[in-house]
Formats: sequence, structure tokens, C-alpha cells
Amino acid sequence: MRIAVLEKDGRRSWYALEGQKARRFARSPFDGGTVESDLVAWTDAELRAPVAPSKIVCVGRNYAAHAKELGNEVPTEPLLFLKPPSAIIGPGETVVLRAESDKVEHESELAVVIGKRATRVSREEALSYVLGYTCANDVTARDLQKKDGQWSRAKGFDTFCPVGPWIETDLDPSDLSVKCIVDGQVRQDGRTSQMIFDVPTLIAYVSRAFTLEPGDLILTGTPEGVGPLAPGNRVSVAIEKIGELTVVVASPA
Ligand code: ZN
Repeated sequence: MRIAVLEKDGRRSWYALEGQKARRFARSPFDGGTVESDLVAWTDAELRAPVAPSKIVCVGRNYAAHAKELGNEVPTEPLLFLKPPSAIIGPGETVVLRAESDKVEHESELAVVIGKRATRVSREEALSYVLGYTCANDVTARDLQKKDGQWSRAKGFDTFCPVGPWIETDLDPSDLSVKCIVDGQVRQDGRTSQMIFDVPTLIAYVSRAFTLEPGDLILTGTPEGVGPLAPGNRVSVAIEKIGELTVVVASPA
């Protein structure tokens, strides 16, 4: 199933998409909601970010080639950091560059959407806590990431976490193509099979540190090919069997 948040006339609701038509959820899909029977056209509604997480847990250096391109060692256990939920934007929205940074970069990532509360779950049962998967861009001020000594500000600015366009629920995350396309040019082109720590391992590891709530996101790391963003760029994260998340880039406000 493909789950989206659609906005029409200022109202947002959950829908299950079926091509150009959709069925509305009576309650949130994170609250056991089921879809209503009416099939409606959604072409005049806008897609919004499909999640409102309590936290966004990210994994650094989870692809060996990307760790190497930034001159870093390949980690021996997952390297975790957090992005604030206030950084989230949805499809078609705008990443606003910052006066504080001269080097803001894209990072295309598969995002895991948690479906039910998970505390200290095993690797074997980890996937049963997943609602589905979406695309994310872990936008990063690379110069500030180095300068600050830790990553909260560099990765946490408002608009630095585009997610969407929807949640795909019936998906095996183990070998999917993950691309980043900037103004039609492919900048990143990796596969989730290249992850150092796979999705079940990450869920188990993260849930030993933080209780994961329904709607929480795990961003699983980026393949090699990260690069700078400039005002006017159209940047897309494209993941096989999910779709394409496109946002535009604007000058500092
Ligand atoms: Zn990242």
C-alpha cells in the first residue's frame, strides 16, 4: 500500500493512493486506521510530508564508499545522530540555504517509518515494527559539521529534512537503488545492499538506545556522491519501488 498525506482546501488527511485515485483513512494508519471504501480523485490535492515523527534518528557513514569520500574510517558499529522534527519539509517545498554556511550538500537516503512502539527489539523481529519506507534527503552544512565538532546544527536547520512523497508499505528494503538527481544530473547512484549495517540491524541497535514511537524515522545513511546545492537547484531523491521526492533550493532568507 502507498500511504500519503494529502492537503485540500487547507485540510490534511491520510490516504491510500491507487494511481490517480485514493481512499481516505478513517483514522491515522499509525493508530490502526483502515481505509474507507470511497475512491476519490486526488489530482487537485497537494502531497505533504507523510510523517510527523517525535524524532528522526540518522545513521552516519553507513556506506563504505561514502565514508571514504569524506576521508572517514568505516565504523565498527552504527554511528547515530538526531535531526529535529522541525527540519521536515514535504514534496515540492523549498530547502532554504543558510548565510552561516558556504557548503550545503545533499544526502539521498532510504527512510524507515516505524509503525508501532519499539524498545529493545531483536534483529529478527525488527521488521515487524516497520510501517513502511519513504525517501529522505539528509541535507547537511558540511563546513559547519566540521567546524562545530558535532552535527546538530549542520544537519538540523529548518528545511534540512525533506521526506516523501509517500510511504510504501509492501517493500523489501535489502536491495533497492538509491539515487540523487540535481537538475537532471545523477549525482548519487547506490544500492541499499551496500549498507554496512542493514535495516533490521539498525532498528535493533537504535531501539536499544531510544524507544521508537509510531511515525519515527530512521535515515539509513547515504551512498557516495554527495555534493553541493545551489539556489535554483531542483533536487530529487529517487528510490526504486518507492518513487521520487523532489524539492527546490533557495537562497538564504
Ligand atoms: Zn546522512
